[in-house]
Amino acid sequence: MASKITDLKAREIIDCRGFPTVEVDIWVDGEFSGRADVPAGRSTGKREAVELRDGGKRWGGQGTLKAVQKVNQVIKPELLGLDPTAQRKVDELLCELDGTENKANLGGNATIGVSLALARAGAKTSGLPLYKYINSNAHVIPVPLVNLINGGMLTSNDLEIQEFIVMPIGAENLKHGMQMCYEINFILHDLIVEKYGKIAVNVGDEGGFAPPMTGINEPMETLARAVEASGYADEIVYGMDAAASHWYDWEKGVYRMEGQEMSREEVIEMYVNLCAKYPVGSIEDPLMEDDFEGHAILTEKLEGVQIVGDDLFTTNLKFIKQGVEIGAANAILWKSNQVGTVTEALDAAEFAYQAGYGVQVSERSGETEDTAIADFSVALNAGQIKTGTTRSERTGKYNQLIRITEELGPKAVYAGKNFHRPI
Ligand code: PEP
Ligand code: MG
Repeated sequence: MASKITDLKAREIIDCRGFPTVEVDIWVDGEFSGRADVPAGRSTGKREAVELRDGGKRWGGQGTLKAVQKVNQVIKPELLGLDPTAQRKVDELLCELDGTENKANLGGNATIGVSLALARAGAKTSGLPLYKYINSNAHVIPVPLVNLINGGMLTSNDLEIQEFIVMPIGAENLKHGMQMCYEINFILHDLIVEKYGKIAVNVGDEGGFAPPMTGINEPMETLARAVEASGYADEIVYGMDAAASHWYDWEKGVYRMEGQEMSREEVIEMYVNLCAKYPVGSIEDPLMEDDFEGHAILTEKLEGVQIVGDDLFTTNLKFIKQGVEIGAANAILWKSNQVGTVTEALDAAEFAYQAGYGVQVSERSGETEDTAIADFSVALNAGQIKTGTTRSERTGKYNQLIRITEELGPKAVYAGKNFHRPI
């Protein structure tokens, strides 16, 4: 007899920043079968699915009891009795129940919690690990994008650019790559202490150092010194999440870096110069999120560099299509809670692949101990994952990838230099 969803329960839990978030449990045929925690962004794109927060005084307005109530009272009665492996059907039902373009009714945090928990329940019902349940041909182990210097909205320093990243593309495997990145981080620690004092090695939301730097040259030079000293210079390329919408002056229509106003052309020139000086493999959100045309110009200018759309695309087919039409960026950042269901996010990745774009699976700055994105990065054969540096809600994902590598045995292929299009 086919399995059935017999119970569903959401609760409010706490994320790594101390904000409430949603956790969803699912039971199949009377047995506990799956759990998912919902992550949250801080440097969010304006086209993301709506995150339902309670407002008012409790938890400074950040409570998620409304979203919990949507799961327990609106979604649950519709799901009872359904097949836990019918992911697409259930996700379509969630979209229908919501009835808006951006999950404004149920809340993207309610729908993605249910959708991710269902994926776990479907995997358990099928007797498979999550990555294999999503894709029986899952075998590519991603290159980690480890963001060693943090700025933007994820820190309390004045560094405009959000993430300065190393990508160990020359490593033999993921674990070797992790070793390289953390050895570089140990050296970087000492360089930062030497120049800025010990308070400067406090870390940002994603576990990278948040020193009192500004602009693009100071962090890049410091990072490059650490990389040189590590002996891994030939094995890594640099990455960056510029998160440019957050240093764009929306009123004046200019970018602002180190007190200087910059035009789009000047910002593009800044990246061109940077890429001439350093081996840069990937730049995310180099320009503000409405400038599809500027992203197309930059993508063409920086041939060979991966240009990733995060706030630009918000894992949403509609905006990815808009970008693909004019060649804006050549990769998407993949965050399933930006769109609100697993199926919509998987469809977005599929479309991106068909268009020749890469897919970079990503953490949110507000994470939990849930490691599902590690499984999804392998399921998508994405070849790349961005999931922070230190702090257990980040390293948990790397540790899960180490386990998956072991499980896959000789079938596992480390994406390495092919991170942009591994298959
Ligand atoms: C990002 O911008 O890529 C990021 C991970 O931050 P957030 O989750 O705050 O959007
Ligand atoms: Mg980003």
